[in-house]
Amino acid sequence: MNIPLLDLQAQYATLREPLLSAIERVMNSQQLILGAEVAGLEEEIASYSQARHAIGCASGSDALLLALQSIGVGPGDEVITTPYSFFATAAAITRLGGRPVFVDIDPVSYNMRESDVGAAITDRTRALLPVHLYGQCAEMNVLQDVARQSAIPIIEDAAQAIGAEDQKRRAGSIGTIGCISFYPSKNLGGAGDGGMLVTNDDEHAARLRMLRVHGEERKYHHRLVGVNSRLDAIQAAVLRVKLPHLEEWTEARIRNAARYDQLFTDAGLAEEIRLPTVREGTRHIFNQYVIRVARRDELRDHLKSNGVGSEVYYPVPLHLQECFHYLGYGVGDFPEAERAARETLALPIYPEMTLEQQTYVVETIRGFYI
Ligand SMILES: *Cc1c(COP(=O)(O)O)cnc(C)c1O
Repeated sequence: MNIPLLDLQAQYATLREPLLSAIERVMNSQQLILGAEVAGLEEEIASYSQARHAIGCASGSDALLLALQSIGVGPGDEVITTPYSFFATAAAITRLGGRPVFVDIDPVSYNMRESDVGAAITDRTRALLPVHLYGQCAEMNVLQDVARQSAIPIIEDAAQAIGAEDQKRRAGSIGTIGCISFYPSKNLGGAGDGGMLVTNDDEHAARLRMLRVHGEERKYHHRLVGVNSRLDAIQAAVLRVKLPHLEEWTEARIRNAARYDQLFTDAGLAEEIRLPTVREGTRHIFNQYVIRVARRDELRDHLKSNGVGSEVYYPVPLHLQECFHYLGYGVGDFPEAERAARETLALPIYPEMTLEQQTYVVETIRGFYI
């Protein structure tokens, strides 16, 4: 059997016709940037994410940058975040001259340890930037208490978490601004790069709409220095075809996660392998199904030689990235993030996976340990 980490062809096969006609519709209109398709998607995502406003932009990375710019992060400002995430989370802070202040992760949820955030706050702290890693929300109640006490905003990195919930609240709309990515490997993926900001704050929404078009208030009149970061109409049209299927895909991922849990337990592997956990009161959307194992790299090679794709998210924690040496962090500063970087492995969890495929993955792993 050959099982990739993500099978985009399987999804494309079910939507080929409507996707191609949506692209043709945009080509016929020759309205290629923003416009009606983007406005339509913004409304649909706002509604899906339970937010008043949604603002399309060029990528999830840009969404982070725009959100931090909108709340005024600048040189010398500190933003508290996790050392265990995709690079863009910390890069957005430093691109604006700010300083990421890392808080180690919880070894069970892999999210920033919420109870440690209060101690990291200084008079330079301008924002909290939690990441809903793998599709499970950070514990927002705890973060909101801390943020309220210090009167600082929360920017949610919800790039992996569209449709995830914490206490029935949708990821992205819980803090001040939420950042969503439509990178093809996310649960809602475009035909290329794309991103969106969601917020309930009218002022931020208006500012973000300016910032994404070079700070333009009206044509050629610039109130702010922003960036060029707009969502293409073709991406919006493609995403509008896919969005109505997102719930069914997410439910299939959740079913697949439960199926893995059962299969691993039945195979007697629950000791060797630390399975993902779902915190009570959350909806985990399983953008990734991540296990923790000993001899991770050897297991990964074994899976590969048996035709099973897997990936390490992420092999180098952010505080140890070469470009962040100047921040002065070193090995041993965030032991849980460093341990996760050595021990975690993401397995295929895409919605179209069959029971046979999942059984094969589990049997292949059993063959390695037993
Ligand atoms: C994917 C991702 C991003 C960036 O999104 P892009 O659209 O690829 O720029 C940011 N943060 C996290 C946690 C991500 O997984």
